[in-house]
Amino acid sequence: MKKTISLLLVCLLLLGCVPLAAASGCIVIDKTWHILVPETPTAAETFAAEKLAGVFGEVFGEAPAIVSQAEKNYIALGAASEADVSGVADNGYRIRAIGGNVHIAGTAQRGLQIAAYRFLEEFCHRKVYTSTITVLPKSDTVFVPTNTDIVYEPFFESTDTDWKSPLDTEYSMANGLTNGARRTLSAEMGGTVDYLGGFCHTMGTLCETEKYKDTHPEYLALHDGERTTEQPCLTNPDVLRICTNNVLKILEEQHDPDAPLQIVSVTQNDNFANCQCENCKSFEAAHGGKPSASVVNFVNRIADVVKEKGYDNVAIDTFAYYYSQPAPEGIVPRDNVIIRLCSILCCFAHPLDHKACNAEFYKDLTDWAKICDRLYIWDYATDYLHTCTVFPNFHVIQKNMQIFYENNVKGMYVEGNYYMDRCDTEFGELRAYMISKCLQNPYCDLEKEAAGFCNAYYGPGGKYVHRIVKIFSKHAGSFDGHMCIYYGSAACMRPFPAVTARLVDALWKKAACAAETDEQLNNLKRSELSWRWWKASAGKCEFSFFNPLRPKEKEKLYQDILDSGAVDFGEYSGNDVRAIDRDVIRYAVPDFWRSGNETNPECQEQMKIEKMAAAFPPLFGIVAYFYTMIHA
Ligand SMILES: [Zn+2]
Ligand SMILES: [Zn+2]
Repeated sequence: MKKTISLLLVCLLLLGCVPLAAASGCIVIDKTWHILVPETPTAAETFAAEKLAGVFGEVFGEAPAIVSQAEKNYIALGAASEADVSGVADNGYRIRAIGGNVHIAGTAQRGLQIAAYRFLEEFCHRKVYTSTITVLPKSDTVFVPTNTDIVYEPFFESTDTDWKSPLDTEYSMANGLTNGARRTLSAEMGGTVDYLGGFCHTMGTLCETEKYKDTHPEYLALHDGERTTEQPCLTNPDVLRICTNNVLKILEEQHDPDAPLQIVSVTQNDNFANCQCENCKSFEAAHGGKPSASVVNFVNRIADVVKEKGYDNVAIDTFAYYYSQPAPEGIVPRDNVIIRLCSILCCFAHPLDHKACNAEFYKDLTDWAKICDRLYIWDYATDYLHTCTVFPNFHVIQKNMQIFYENNVKGMYVEGNYYMDRCDTEFGELRAYMISKCLQNPYCDLEKEAAGFCNAYYGPGGKYVHRIVKIFSKHAGSFDGHMCIYYGSAACMRPFPAVTARLVDALWKKAACAAETDEQLNNLKRSELSWRWWKASAGKCEFSFFNPLRPKEKEKLYQDILDSGAVDFGEYSGNDVRAIDRDVIRYAVPDFWRSGNETNPECQEQMKIEKMAAAFPPLFGIVAYFYTMIHA
């Protein structure tokens, strides 16, 4: 059930400001106003009008009427408005105050609808923080400065992230998420940018490698001297014909000519087995020696056929991923080809333009940007190996989004912890909100957005969580300062002085004391689990190797994680977390918490030392401490 939090204090403050605001040049909207639409409104105009009226109804206690005739005191929408959007890019909008009234117009499929959401956020201070937490102050009046003239053009044509709330329709509309891979936005909302036939790793299926493995092994990739179904051979003309036919079949069945953009993904399978046959090798040798050359050539030729068949609103998508990450030379993607560059190998303790660790990726990004006008990104934002631990990337979220935008990127997918229903012990909702806001506008005031989120989600103690998150970011990275998406827990935040750890503990306590509802307290406790997991991995505070109760603390942490509803501790662990050996929980660091690990020699060795440490602290505590430091 949706829950609205009323901020009465804000209303009282606003009421107190009426004469001042009116005198200083504000239009004052109240329940007597009208929402003006054309005589025969479009579906988009009707949707925007009903959205505004519905939310005004909650703000004022009474919804304003939607009319097609009004002399004064109205918010005019779409064709009824005088806001000029002739120079505004697709799916953009303009909100203008003209002659004491408000005029809102949008372009293409969703400009007007998202303008309505922007108006509610900007002037009614309505924030959709999660799928269940919307903040909407109640008031008798809403103020719009008389000089208001907001023009917005989307920074990306396709935006997407997963986590939990971003899958929600209302959250997506309010926070600018438009891709249809994970959400459904109706036609009157403006629809979505859809992938037809699959989102990723489709080449094996589209080229039917399994079907032809015995009759036509030459269709398969020749990798390390053997034909393999793991990838197709992309210079074989029959493979091109098979794949093209399958793409056309998908389009015949699923194409929507009225959609703004539809995408068919022709993307390499998730492995390193690219074809090394003579044809592929010589084609790639002629294009800078880059395997991406045969990939681009392959999808270009499919894209040409798709265009010839008249599918003007369709783009063919392919990956720049692992072996195909560097851009080719002497060949460019067609204008109806999307290159989806993946940041899977990057460091997220540093921004993507950091010269020491992300230089290779940054070069590839800028190289692709030069030859591709439809560059998309597949980005990553959690620790997929040990998802319960802290992944302190908060400080690079906005900078990276700006880097993408400034390098000609047109579409964004930020993969997060999409399995939150199996494993939600971290800052998923906070990070999802920060990412969404940056997808909507990479130059937004993200600090303010994060602070607002923390206050709504964690309660009055949210400011302490916001501070904790900043401390985590400051300590991001292993001993070498870097952090990838498959790091061990302790390596995510290695250089962490004990005094700072104790400060963080104190901040969690203060935040919990300030919580006003059980929901806020639950949110705090769940996020704190990730800090406890890290402490257990790094041997800090109550999990110190000098503490004889360390094994008991670990058992408690394990039980609290199970009680939070987690049934898995990572992306694909397939682990039955209820069946983990008790000694593994007590004497191994959490990264070893997997069923069956009691026979793992590395885990056994660590357990042996920790058992001695627990029996004879602090003497063996010192030994165990240095031992785990060396082996971490
Ligand atoms: Zn080949
Ligand atoms: Zn780094």
